[in-house]
Amino acid sequence: MLRVLSLLLAPVSLFAATAEVPRAPGVPSYQVELASNAAGTTWSGRETVAFTNTSADPMPEVYLRLWGNSHGCEAVQVVGATTLPDCTVAKVVLPKALEPGDRTSIAVDVTLTAPDREDRFGRSGAYSFFGNALPVLAVHDDTGWRLDPDVGIGESFYTVAADFAVRLKHPDGITVPSTGTMTDGVAIAKQVRDFAWVAGPFRTTEVKSPSGITVRTWATPTVSVDAVGGARAEAVSALDDFGRRFGTYPYGELDLVLNGRWTSFSGMEYPGFVLLISPQSPVTHEVAHQWWYGIVGNNEYADPWLDEAFATYSTDLHDGAQQAGCWPGSLPVAITRDMGYWGAHQKSYGPYVYTYGSCMLHDLEREIGTAQMAELLATYAKAHWYGVATPADFKTAAQAATMTDLGPFWKSHAIG
Ligand SMILES: [Zn+2]
Repeated sequence: MLRVLSLLLAPVSLFAATAEVPRAPGVPSYQVELASNAAGTTWSGRETVAFTNTSADPMPEVYLRLWGNSHGCEAVQVVGATTLPDCTVAKVVLPKALEPGDRTSIAVDVTLTAPDREDRFGRSGAYSFFGNALPVLAVHDDTGWRLDPDVGIGESFYTVAADFAVRLKHPDGITVPSTGTMTDGVAIAKQVRDFAWVAGPFRTTEVKSPSGITVRTWATPTVSVDAVGGARAEAVSALDDFGRRFGTYPYGELDLVLNGRWTSFSGMEYPGFVLLISPQSPVTHEVAHQWWYGIVGNNEYADPWLDEAFATYSTDLHDGAQQAGCWPGSLPVAITRDMGYWGAHQKSYGPYVYTYGSCMLHDLEREIGTAQMAELLATYAKAHWYGVATPADFKTAAQAATMTDLGPFWKSHAIG
């Protein structure tokens, strides 16, 4: 999201030293069937989620995150789960505790009503946006259930990669682009962390990138034809560039939704699907999130720098911006603080997590060498492809890419 060489050491072998934290529920598979009202503002139907207990202990319950309720508890209604006082959380008690390794499913009836605000889950004229609207499974990791709040800025989201099959039934007068690829009227998305869609009488275009990725645009009347073309060209260029740098984009297509006005952001990333303000779209930044957040996941509440600093740095790589001298010398607060901290210190969030975080990565590149940095990012992405990376994972990968002890570097660059 954005607000307004060959190595001497073999890094792969060292990844083995970083044990994957068992996150659960694992291997989620969502089956969803929703029907809209005439305007596409309200959707209701059934959501079924199958999952495996990938933890070491019996699992008596699971939690759904209703992030669409961040601005009021009426937007996302569920039947079949108990909504908690923080109405972005709903609890489902399983009929019998799920044993480690066993698989089961839950089902809820959901009604989603886009709030009357120009937001990622909201409305703008005849257009409705369903970002972070569909309930998704919360994650249980080595710290327990992560039921962190939405702090009002950035993202607090945290999911494991999942498969989605979503049928969105709607009147002929609106178009409904979404995450995934349409097959027989069902949007199919594999190994993604979320599922977003929009509804309305969008103007649309389609091109293929030189590497074969389909890029579609979906514009509201507030966006000019030229602005659509500009955003599309930038996305095509960034997708192919990042594919070469970090690993080929795996989803086959990318949808760009362009609108002239949002209230709280200028771009927001979803798997294979991006919301952009136009014409000032931070297109390259949001495309970079397809890798940092999407393909290589992270706990966005605990470690926002792992997606935002990386997306910002990747944008500089694409643009050839070296940001020499950008590091301020020292910082009183670590870049690696969580969203709880940034929510309470909102003015520092952008400078620290995006700007200084990216600058730290530029300095890391200067410390270990440009070719080594490129190899590090490619290797790190490959090691955590469709997984969830932690700060320790990145620090271990970076250390494996250089003979220099990076301890002093992390300390001098506000990495806790
Ligand atoms: Zn971002």
